[in-house]
Amino acid sequence: MEANNPQSMKKEKLLEIYKSDIDQGLSYEEAQKRLETHGKNVLTGKEKVSPLKILFRNFNNIIVYLLTLASLVSFIMDEPVEGFAVIIAILVAVVSGFISEYKAEKSIDALKEMTRNTAKVIRDGQIKEISSENLVPGDIIYLEEGDLITGDGSLVKSTNFAAIESALTGESESVEKTEDFISEADTPLGDQKNRVFTGTAVTRGNAYVLITETGMKTELGKISQMIQSSEKTQTPLEKQLKRLGQLFIFFAVVVAFAVTLLGIYQGEELYFIIKLGIIIAIAAVPEALPAVSTITLALGMKTMAQNAALVKSLPAVETLGSTTIICTDKTGTLTENQMTVTDIYTKKDQEIYSVTGDGYSPQGDILKDQKKIDQMPDALHQMILAGVLSSNANLSKEGQEYKVVGDPTEGGVVVLGEKVDIQKEALKVEGFERFAERPFNSNDKYMVVGFEYQKEKSLYIKGAPDVLLELSDLSSDERNSLSKVNEDFAKEGKRVIGVGRINNYEGSHEEKEMVDALKGNVDFLGFFAIMDPPREDVKQAIDEAQNAGIRVLMITGDHPKTAQTIAKKIGISNVDKVVTGKEMDGMTKDELLETIKSTAIYARVSPENKLQIVDVLNDEDEITAMTGDGVNDAPALNGADIGIAMGIRGTQVAKDASDMILTDDQFSTIIKAVKEGRIIFSNIQKFIYFLFSCNVVEILAIFIAMIMRLPVPILALQILWLNLVVDVLPAMSLAWEPGDDDIMTQKPRDPKAPIVSIKFLVQMLFEGALIGLGSLLAFYFAIESDLSLEIARTIAFTTMAFGQLFHLFNVRGQHMFVHFTKNIYLLGSLVISSLVMLVAIYLPFLNKVMYTEPLHLNHWLIVLLGSFVPTLLIQGFRLIKNLVINQ
Ligand code: ADP
Ligand code: MG
Repeated sequence: MEANNPQSMKKEKLLEIYKSDIDQGLSYEEAQKRLETHGKNVLTGKEKVSPLKILFRNFNNIIVYLLTLASLVSFIMDEPVEGFAVIIAILVAVVSGFISEYKAEKSIDALKEMTRNTAKVIRDGQIKEISSENLVPGDIIYLEEGDLITGDGSLVKSTNFAAIESALTGESESVEKTEDFISEADTPLGDQKNRVFTGTAVTRGNAYVLITETGMKTELGKISQMIQSSEKTQTPLEKQLKRLGQLFIFFAVVVAFAVTLLGIYQGEELYFIIKLGIIIAIAAVPEALPAVSTITLALGMKTMAQNAALVKSLPAVETLGSTTIICTDKTGTLTENQMTVTDIYTKKDQEIYSVTGDGYSPQGDILKDQKKIDQMPDALHQMILAGVLSSNANLSKEGQEYKVVGDPTEGGVVVLGEKVDIQKEALKVEGFERFAERPFNSNDKYMVVGFEYQKEKSLYIKGAPDVLLELSDLSSDERNSLSKVNEDFAKEGKRVIGVGRINNYEGSHEEKEMVDALKGNVDFLGFFAIMDPPREDVKQAIDEAQNAGIRVLMITGDHPKTAQTIAKKIGISNVDKVVTGKEMDGMTKDELLETIKSTAIYARVSPENKLQIVDVLNDEDEITAMTGDGVNDAPALNGADIGIAMGIRGTQVAKDASDMILTDDQFSTIIKAVKEGRIIFSNIQKFIYFLFSCNVVEILAIFIAMIMRLPVPILALQILWLNLVVDVLPAMSLAWEPGDDDIMTQKPRDPKAPIVSIKFLVQMLFEGALIGLGSLLAFYFAIESDLSLEIARTIAFTTMAFGQLFHLFNVRGQHMFVHFTKNIYLLGSLVISSLVMLVAIYLPFLNKVMYTEPLHLNHWLIVLLGSFVPTLLIQGFRLIKNLVINQ
């Protein structure tokens, strides 16, 4: 069952070949069978990471090699207990790395599932939304405007259908399609007007399509086969961490080398020197570094998803934190998208009426001069009628609440109709028969609906006032005075739409003919002024963004004055001037860049203008977030560093082109996500801070002890115990840190700046050195007090452990000893690590393996001093530094 050249076949023939039916589709059993033979409808090569691969990755790293070497040396030196212990350490390291990484990958997969594409398919005669993965040849899918096409197929039924295929053909104009067209076998893709293809999108109309190819058999599949890159690309952060890891290792090698030289110089045994070198290497290698970024980012992704921001990839999580500029839609993102008509202007009698009532509730009256009108003037009636007829939205009641299904702007008009008993349903019964529609789009900013009533055909038009006036039969004086009326409403922050009509329409139902009939002929009826209040939390979110050094640009299709009034209300900076889409069209890149620096409002823009802004900012050192919802927004969403699609209002195409989807459509959600992104970065930084300074502690203590010709203060297994057992949980728990209070008052981070600056490096070295010295002094004191070497080492070992655990409070920065409830993992890990340490000291079996001795109370006194004083000193230094700076 497969057609060669389906493009040259009639739909009847194709349906026969694929044993499908236009009304019934396939049956569930049949679809299931075909899924088994044809496989999932995915482009392979984007395979998930397999558990085996993750496991292998965890074995294949330098720490495992080093430890294996250490264990070998132990066996050779006839110390089998130590040898086995090291093997256990290897297993612990590998298994814990594997588990945490696997869990992270799992949760990423689960989140990706939430953003997966879907298709509306007919199965067993019913239309169902399924995951596109499960499409099979023979399926009948239903496509409408804004849908992403996820299989190759032939049209079997369509109205007014057009698709944009730029992803495949590079052609940026939409292509009209119909099932009546039959292509030749060799017709190029772009001209196959009876076919649709994976990866393209519906821009207009609707269609039923018989799927003929899925997965790698699609045209897109064929291309992606050629350009497939199987390597998982690393995020910039991962790259930086990798480099940092290499730096650590280099550092370790240098120290190990120095120790070896020193050992030889001091005439130590070769066996001893080799072992010491290995200990140092173990101490210096950052065990958990590679896994931590994945884990922290995956955790952040989860948190963001809980806060209504679905981020599609780890790099996007990371980039979000360094956002410098947010370009946001106004309507629905900054505002409630709950449209209430508050004023009406009728052109015929030049009257202004106001309308009472709240939201979408159909209760309210029409007032004139503050008084309820008792009779409906004809001009007003005609206008509301035209508005209701040219609206597609429907009002529905859910419990006590009224909801609008469809476009909110139209919803506002429909509700107005309900208030005065001009109801859509009633009009239908009365004999208004709809024969054609040209839907609203953000480029042309108007829509037309054709109705036949008592044998007479009329066109009803509504759209942006300037567009409608332009189409009208009015003189330029009349247009000017009407523009003033429009502007007065706009100044109040209201969204204005104009309404018009053409009676006695005699043309055909073809869209082109209807559009042509409008030009200069529209009988202009008046304006509706619509209130769409800003969302409650928007002002605060804007404030937070601007305090965080992030600029906010408002981008809207609305009137400049409407945009400006709202922008002022919600506290956006740089709102003295407004730039319109038309003005932008004529600007060069440099001019636009200059404009962006001083102006935050862009009104009456088209989707192309959005792309223009993205292009300009991409050439600068800016990290741009851009919101969008329509098909035409896709290029801008794709081009921006962070494309943000609206989850509720957005089309599939916009969602597919974006990096993040707002499931609640709200601006404040973006800011929450940015904040989370910043916290994630700072937590990764804290993790590095902790890990690196702890390694310094161990290396330095050993190194200085050698110079002082003291015995080695800590043994290999003890270091392993510290690095792989004691430190790991607290380090991991830093991923749950709540973020400093000033996280949203700092400037955005430069994404190119290294994670570890020189200043930071010095700080880590210094603090690590202090803690190392604390342990060494404890060790020295123990030896000087004639305690046994085992006890002295146990003291040093324990002092290091607790010194490092105390150090967590330094790493936590500002939180220190507070906000534990926000990070119970940290508290829990501290308890566990302390217990684990006690086990190492008091469990007889471990005493034997690790050469430790149970400590007495007076030993603990030394431990406490040696471990706590460094942290006290570190905090003291910080206090002094702050005092000096604040003076
Ligand atoms: P935005 O969503 O940024 O506010 P739009 O492109 O949706 O911009 O709208 C631009 C203008 O088009 C609005 O100011 C309004 O005058 C008009 N308009 C919006 N929606 C409709 C609609 N459904 N029907 C007619 N006109 C509309
Ligand atoms: Mg809109």
